[in-house]
Amino acid sequence: MENFRFSAVAKAWEHKPVEVKPMNVSVPTFFGRQVFTRERMRDYIAEQTLEQLFDAIDNNKPIGRELAGSVAIGMKKWAMENGATHFTHWFQPLTGGTAEKQDAFLGFDREGRAIEEFSGSELYQQEPDASSFPNGGIRNTFEARGYSAWDPTSPAFVIEDRLCIPTIFVAYTGEALDYKTPLIRSIDALNKAATDVCNYFDKNVRSVCMNLGWEQEYFLIDEALYAARPDLVMTGRTLMGHASSKTQQLDDHYFGTIPERVTCFMTELEQEALKLGIPVKTRHNEVAPNQFELAPIFEEVNLANDHNLLIMSLMEKIAHKHHFRVLLHEKPYAGVNGSGKHCNWSMQTNTGVNLLSPGKNPYANLQFVTFLVNVMAALNRHNGLLKASIISATNAHRLGANEAPPAIISIFLGTQLTQALNEIENADEDKGIIINAKKEMKLGVSHIPEILLDNTDRNRTSPFAFTGNRFEFRAVGSSANCGAAMLALNAVVAEQLIDFKAEVDALIASGEAKERALFKVIRKCIRETKAIRFDGNGYSDEWKAEAAKRGLDCETSAPLMIDRYLDPASVMMFEKANVLTLQELKSRCDVKWENYAAKLQIESRVLGDLVKNHVLPAAQRYQGVLLDNVLKLNKVFGDEAEAMTKEDKLMITKIARHNDEILRLTDEMAALRKVANHTEDARERAILFHDTVVPKMEAIREHVDELELIVDDELWTLPKYREMLFIR
Ligand code: ADP
Ligand code: MG
Repeated sequence: MENFRFSAVAKAWEHKPVEVKPMNVSVPTFFGRQVFTRERMRDYIAEQTLEQLFDAIDNNKPIGRELAGSVAIGMKKWAMENGATHFTHWFQPLTGGTAEKQDAFLGFDREGRAIEEFSGSELYQQEPDASSFPNGGIRNTFEARGYSAWDPTSPAFVIEDRLCIPTIFVAYTGEALDYKTPLIRSIDALNKAATDVCNYFDKNVRSVCMNLGWEQEYFLIDEALYAARPDLVMTGRTLMGHASSKTQQLDDHYFGTIPERVTCFMTELEQEALKLGIPVKTRHNEVAPNQFELAPIFEEVNLANDHNLLIMSLMEKIAHKHHFRVLLHEKPYAGVNGSGKHCNWSMQTNTGVNLLSPGKNPYANLQFVTFLVNVMAALNRHNGLLKASIISATNAHRLGANEAPPAIISIFLGTQLTQALNEIENADEDKGIIINAKKEMKLGVSHIPEILLDNTDRNRTSPFAFTGNRFEFRAVGSSANCGAAMLALNAVVAEQLIDFKAEVDALIASGEAKERALFKVIRKCIRETKAIRFDGNGYSDEWKAEAAKRGLDCETSAPLMIDRYLDPASVMMFEKANVLTLQELKSRCDVKWENYAAKLQIESRVLGDLVKNHVLPAAQRYQGVLLDNVLKLNKVFGDEAEAMTKEDKLMITKIARHNDEILRLTDEMAALRKVANHTEDARERAILFHDTVVPKMEAIREHVDELELIVDDELWTLPKYREMLFIR
């Protein structure tokens, strides 16, 4: 009988690098070729129309149907010249990933002749009737209408034969059913709040945007091996598999030479990304074998997030061509590093100032410190919520498992910045801030700029680290839509800045000079946000104890982390910032719980199947071989066989014990799953899966992995870690 695993391994070894044609032109000549950029619009849309459009986009004004109609004509012409026959509203449902419904450029003229058509209303709004997308009860079936509506702030692009139009996805009644809608709302909220605070320092600041630079980690696996692992196919991760003798202990993969097959994949991926205007820049091996990272240059957060989603689907498509599958799951393999998506986040004014970058003079530094402490204060208030924004059934495997996100959100500042804040905090109230005749100001922190330039003090254990001119939110999962985390971050900072300004204004109204008022509130923030600051080892047990004492959110159960969305403080914050209503928050939580339970239901079913169809049969076959041996030895050697068969007999009993345990646990798991499945309430269901089903899955895995070690290699049917992680 042919062993499926062996043929998969043989096939995998046969796969050679798939050569990629070089572009033969410089990057600027093809960068953004498939994007309907502002520049390109000029060739297709009348000047006056464009002026109106740009004014609407830049100043947040509504776009009328007539304007949309004029834009659509030019957009269609460009798209068709670039090979598009169809158009699609491209949106970001709460399932994760992106969704599209494709329509042809087709209509009839008055005489009934077929024409290529794409109207303003088709650009503007679609009704995908996507009634199967999760909505957490917002859309009742009798009004199961969801609308997608054009987001003109993110440019349309062509992929293959279709024009993709970035859209938001909302219910008939206006509630958000996606990630983009609240992300855009949060950008508006923070833009307003941050601009107001900037105006203390510079009256010329008109707007503030948020930047995001994501670092996408992922694993590659040969497609033949992937196909031989039903758990990878169905759940994106291995539900069993003993660690291989060599994993990442030599650190020889990290930043090592990229294997040829992988380089070919990356080259093609980058070519396609650049054509789509995604400024991909960095590629390297990651810590675990067969793990890699891709990062672009940062962009405005809404665009950056669209680009990240686009990259994730591009990766999957291009991986196929290279006989790979890309694993975006946060933890495809137990015991080796998982994959995250560090989100580098900062705020920038329309005048080009990075608000998280220390300034060149004390005045600019006061602005820097203002924004820094407000981010700290926001996280201090809502650390549990920020954790909720990144939790999922898949990312739960990373949290608290000695990987960059411990299950506690804290901020790393580094010793020097900490020292600077300490100085401000302890400065003499009167001497702390000296304003001389030239309106120059001394803060007692005049040396901030030099300090931060050599801020090499990078703490890899921190989930939220200040890295010189930005914060790096490292707890975001590799498969996540960064929008969830970014909108929470924008919103909490917006709320905090609004409150900060109210306090400063109150002091000014009571006669305090502006700088002194700012200084006072900053000091208060520094004093009140000590709990969230932690520069030590985020993985240590001491930190867990300390964090609990400090009142930080230490919840480790994923379904319970989600509760933080519905804390009164969260609801008030989201409503105040106009980002999510209570109704929307409730529905989002329901979707999160449903998703959690559904993922675990699938995992536990797949595990049950694999155990019964692969593991136990292999173990029993090996048992049979051993039994045969014992019988034959007994037959030939009679009483003398006693010593010879001793080890075999022990092994037979060992296997029998594992088999019994696995069977018992699998039956118990099925019974518990049934109870969970029959639980109506999504939250209760998720909790049941977490509390009752997961422990059984873990216990089953232990026995299975033990068996893998002792069963004859030839009889084991599922590709092993040493094969999946090292064949490339
Ligand atoms: P790391 O050492 O963390 O790997 P990289 O140099 O690879 O850092 O940068 C990570 C990401 O951070 C990149 O996408 C980069 O463009 C982005 N980045 C740099 N500066 C900023 C900033 N001010 N705001 C947002 N993102 C930034
Ligand atoms: Mg980084």
